[in-house]
Amino acid sequence: MSSYHPLTEQEAIEIAQSIDGFFPAGASLSCKEIGDGNLNLVFHITDSVSGKSLIMKQALPYAKVVGESWPLTLDRARIESEKLILEGKLAPGLVPVVYKYDKELALTVMEDLSDHVIMRHGLIGGTRYPLFADHISTFMARTLFFTSDLGMNQQEKKLQVKTFINPELCKITEDLIFDDPYTVTPNNNISPAIADAADALTRDGELHFEVALLRDKFLTNAQALLHGDLHTGSVFATPESTKVIDPEFAFYGPMGFDVGAVIANLLLNYAGQEHWSADDLARSDFRQYLLNTIVDTWKQFEEKFRALWNEHGIDRLANSAPGYQDFYMRRLLQDTIGFAGCKIVRRIVGLSHVADIDRIPDDAKRERAQRLALEIGTRLIKLNRNAASIEQLIEEVKAAS
Ligand code: ADP
Ligand code: MG
Ligand code: MG
Ligand code: MG
Repeated sequence: MSSYHPLTEQEAIEIAQSIDGFFPAGASLSCKEIGDGNLNLVFHITDSVSGKSLIMKQALPYAKVVGESWPLTLDRARIESEKLILEGKLAPGLVPVVYKYDKELALTVMEDLSDHVIMRHGLIGGTRYPLFADHISTFMARTLFFTSDLGMNQQEKKLQVKTFINPELCKITEDLIFDDPYTVTPNNNISPAIADAADALTRDGELHFEVALLRDKFLTNAQALLHGDLHTGSVFATPESTKVIDPEFAFYGPMGFDVGAVIANLLLNYAGQEHWSADDLARSDFRQYLLNTIVDTWKQFEEKFRALWNEHGIDRLANSAPGYQDFYMRRLLQDTIGFAGCKIVRRIVGLSHVADIDRIPDDAKRERAQRLALEIGTRLIKLNRNAASIEQLIEEVKAAS
């Protein structure tokens, strides 16, 4: 059973039974595959008698998108499992516990979070998460600071960069986020209704200049160990709890890419409120909640990151050069805004979309949401290097609306 092959549900049960002490001896387990099957299998294994359960995620050796498939390294399962374990140490309670990793099978066995809801679906359903900004800002401040040259031994960091080299998954990001949306390619997924706006993206030189700079940063700036795919579909939430999953895109990159991903996905939901809110009053109320969450997330992130730096900073010059911390945080805000813009644009015209927009049943409302998101995204990309405060991001969102 140990050489790689995609597991059947029965085989997943046998592996679960072999994990010492987890399920009672002789338990009769049930298994259901619950993943979307594009990149990975996700098995949910339960024992109805003891009430215990776990999740097994297995990487598939290919990615399947709109019928086509291309090979994709199984090493991402190792990266996911090692990153989850590291996150569990740096940000305890904010990720699922890893019970076991099987290299041959590209399999991670982890805590079952089925009592949580994928945050994207929660937001679509109108749920608010009052502790999300606090939790996600802690997650980001701690995982980013302690894997950067500010917060960890700089020689050890270089070795860790090597461990988390992730060229194939980075290439997906480089193509889908930082290239395809700005050119004419069959890889894009553009609704005919917004063909004019998509076309404008391919001819906007100012935009291309900024995206090229952000792309360069993504390619070259090994600033900290990123989650790499930190959208609201990678967050399990309840109003009391937040758990980040799915770090298979982890690599050493620019910190603003993670912070920007969170903000971008809140803004995609903001655009989707064209449909998901019952009426104008509910819409402006929920949108204000989302904007407050964005501001809180950034402000708490900045405050926590600076506090970690002041207490644990290991770089003498970075710790003491007058104005350096302020400059660093401002540049990080600028990156965050730029990457947020790129992540919004790709979800409207690129290959992979989000349910917040695509599941809007009414054509006219969906088109309005798409145009609004594109307007917000391009404004943020153009703002990025001039930004000095998170309020400027909010002003751009309001100006686009
Ligand atoms: P992928 O990389 O294929 O997107 P994810 O890690 O995001 O895989 O998992 C896909 C889905 O499987 C999630 O949206 C969720 O429904 C389910 N899932 C993943 N991990 C867990 C978990 N620890 N507990 C409960 N459900 C999970
Ligand atoms: Mg998926
Ligand atoms: Mg994934
Ligand atoms: Mg996922």
